[in-house]
This record gives sequence, C-alpha cells and structure tokens, in this order.
Amino acid sequence: MARIVQKFGGTSVADLDRIRNVAQRVKTEIDAGHEVAVVVSAMSGTTNQLVSWASEIGPLHDAREYDTIVATGEQVTVGLLAIALQNIGIDARSWLGWQIPIRSDNVHGAARIDSIDGSAIRERMKAGQVAVIAGFQGIGPDGRISTLGRGGSDTSAVAIAAALQADRCDIYTDVDGVYTTDPRIAPKATKLSRITFEEMLEMASSGAKVLQTRSVAMAMRHNVSLQVRSSFNDAPGTLVVNEDSVVEQETISGIAYSPDEAKITIVGLPDQPGVAAGVFGALADNHVNVDMIVQSASSAVKKTDISFSVSRSDLDKAVDIINKIKDQLGFESVDAAPNVAKISVVGMAMRTQPGVAKTMFETLAAKGVNLHVISTSEIKISVLIDAEYTELAVRSLHTAYGLDDET
Ligand code: ASP
Ligand code: MG
Repeated sequence: MARIVQKFGGTSVADLDRIRNVAQRVKTEIDAGHEVAVVVSAMSGTTNQLVSWASEIGPLHDAREYDTIVATGEQVTVGLLAIALQNIGIDARSWLGWQIPIRSDNVHGAARIDSIDGSAIRERMKAGQVAVIAGFQGIGPDGRISTLGRGGSDTSAVAIAAALQADRCDIYTDVDGVYTTDPRIAPKATKLSRITFEEMLEMASSGAKVLQTRSVAMAMRHNVSLQVRSSFNDAPGTLVVNEDSVVEQETISGIAYSPDEAKITIVGLPDQPGVAAGVFGALADNHVNVDMIVQSASSAVKKTDISFSVSRSDLDKAVDIINKIKDQLGFESVDAAPNVAKISVVGMAMRTQPGVAKTMFETLAAKGVNLHVISTSEIKISVLIDAEYTELAVRSLHTAYGLDDET
C-alpha cells in the first residue's frame, strides 16, 4: 500500500466526461489498495477567462480581489470530481486551500506556500476517504484567499505530496511525459523515460511548459518522487529523479525555448562601480525579472554597453524605468528589441564533456542564426536569437545533439 498524490491539469478535467475519466483513474489506485489525495486545476480555459474578466473590470485591480475571482475555477472542479467519485462508490470529499489549510505569504497573485497542515487530510485518507484538493490556492496571513501564479497547481500537488509524505506524486497532463523538445515544433522529439530534477528545473525555467518551475524546485528540495504522465492513455510517463538514480548521466536531455523574450541594450554607460547595481536595482525594485545579462568590454573612453533580456510583457515597463533614471546613470540611449527568443540546450553531459557549446554555436552558425546574448550554467547553455529563427534553431539543435527519433 502506498500513499499517492494524483494531480490532474486543466485539459484532464475539461468537461464532465473527462472528469468521469479522472474518477476512474482515482478508482484504479483505490482498488489497488492505495491511499489517494487528488489535486485538480480549473477546467481548461476557465482561468484565462477569469483573468480576462478581472483585467477588463479593472486594469489595475486589487490583487486580493483578483485572487478571489481566479481561485473559483478550482472550486468548481473539486466539487464535480468529488461527486463523480461518490457516484462510482468512492468516499470522497472536496477541500479548498483555506480548509486544509495551505498557508501562503501575502503576495496575492503570486503567493508562495509557507506551510501545509496535512493532519486532517491524513486522518481522512487513513479512514479510506479520497481528498479532492483545489490546486493553485491557499490562504494568506491576511485570512484571504491567495493564488500561486499561473500553472501553480503543480506546485500545490508537490507541496501536498511533501506534507503528506506521499510515496509518489503523479502529474497527469495532456502529454504523456517530458519530451526532448516541444513535439509541436520538432516532430522527431522523443519522450524521456527519466530526467534529473536539475535538468527538469533548467528545462522548465527555460520555457518547457510541462511543469511549473517552482514545483520542480520544491520536489527537488523535499525529494518528492515525481512522474509526468497522460490522463488520456496508459503509456508510461517520465520519472523526474535524483541524480544518483540515473545511470547514464552524460547526456543532453533536451532543447527548450522561450519565445516571448525581449532584449534591452543600454548604450554608453559610464564604466564605473555601481552602474550595474543602479540599472538592475531599479528594475528589481519595480518587480521586473531580468534573465540574461552581458556587458561589453569597456573601451578607452571609459564607456560600456549593457544588454539584458526580460519577458516581452515587461518590456515597456522596463524601458520606462531605465529612462526615468537616465540622468542619474548618465548613459547615451536605450534600444529595445521586442522580438527575440531564448533557446537552451540542457543536459548533465555539459559537466563532463567538452564540445557541447561548440556544437551549439556551429549548428546555429551553419543556419545563419545570429546570437545576441549567450549565458551558461553548469548544465545549460542559452542563447538569445531573433524570434523568427526559433523553430529552425530548435529543430537543427535537436538533430545536432542526436536527439531525433529515427524509428
Ligand atoms: N488554473 C490555474 C492556471 O490556469 C492553475 C493551474 O492550472 O495550474 O494557471
Ligand atoms: Mg498546468
């Protein structure tokens, strides 16, 4: 007997038939003798609709009311799934974030989980009841509903698995696992049977949509064994595992891309201490997330240029912030490139094998793709390129690293 958390995403609960199908999947685990907690998202499309209503009625809305609105999608699905389970003879009860409670901080709209009291749920599960838990939501220190940011129900599921000390956390989605890249762009993408937490973290933060980045970080921290699989078929999924449990570590696992990036270049900054702190301090104070950064070598005239990337939705705000401190910083001009994409190659191989970067740069050069910014981590190389080359770059790198499915 095991304790299992099953998480079902929006497409898996998109309509009543699919919710009935989910109930059957839960029943399979119950029939096998396991204790089950289920975490669900809102029906697909629902959260988008709720978000757009919130912005329509008040473009600069109060984040507490935003959370009150957008958290409702999950309230509907927990109720429906609990009934669907009861209908097939399974004892089930729905739980909202505040009822557990899942305590978060007070950053409404992008809250972080502080603690989960799993005791009430554990008792019920021991007594044979399935806990059907609303993902994406918690309760803040102000006693109000909070939400965890888009895609946050993955993080809910992992946090609950950690709090319940579950043996497994199965994330059911509309793809049957983690692929070497997005199969919609590269039809020769292959499913990985295993990926390490570190690689998954880099893939997710580089644009792979399959798991919310924070959920992977949390699973890694609490050593939650994570499996990504499809609710539409019984194909084995992808296991996200500890580095130690992977025998063959010397591989490139995948190519990720993030199409919605923008690049900002500040030209002619004085080359002196404190300039970068001034630029990135101002952006951070205004909650603009900066990703890649390069600074050009300073010239004899003691001037330097700094380029960095932000998400495209933050571009106007970022340029505005920089322009406001123009006199203070004393630069010449700001250039904005709105249409760039980030392409990343991820894999443990980088730690040991020379030549991984060379393959990337040669492949892109052969296709005539210009690189604006390059950055690296221990197991990742990312480049910023013009967005129009995204598909070409992803496909040719997928081939170059031998990831194409040749069957
Ligand atoms: N329903 C929320 C969203 O669409 C949370 C989730 O699906 O993970 O972002
Ligand atoms: Mg999701």
